[in-house]
Amino acid sequence: MSRERHSNSYVSERMRKVQIDTLAVFSDPTCHRFGCLVLQSSELRMRRLEDLLSHLVLIGEGELQSIMSDHGLEKAEGDDMICHGPTVGTVASTQYFPKYRLLRIAKGSPCSAQYQNVEFLP
Ligand SMILES: [Zn+2]
Repeated sequence: MSRERHSNSYVSERMRKVQIDTLAVFSDPTCHRFGCLVLQSSELRMRRLEDLLSHLVLIGEGELQSIMSDHGLEKAEGDDMICHGPTVGTVASTQYFPKYRLLRIAKGSPCSAQYQNVEFLP
């Protein structure tokens, strides 16, 4: 079974070639992430996502929303949070269930979002 996932950076080798360098840092001194690696949050969230997925064999809507609502190991604002809190804020999320021709979309953080179903006709 294929589990497509991403954390706002490219996953495939082909697309990674056009992505910003992995050692790039924020250079604007007024940015709260000045000096931090640009892809740091994305890579930490991807590791967290892969760890959470590795514990599940089957994933339904509930499990998927739980993973997307994850607030990281420290349960505090941090780079490994899949669901970002008030500082950065996750503005929307989507879930795809191709086998059932179903797309679920929600505005706002996954931990408090109300998903709406969009079904596709066969
Ligand atoms: Zn949240």
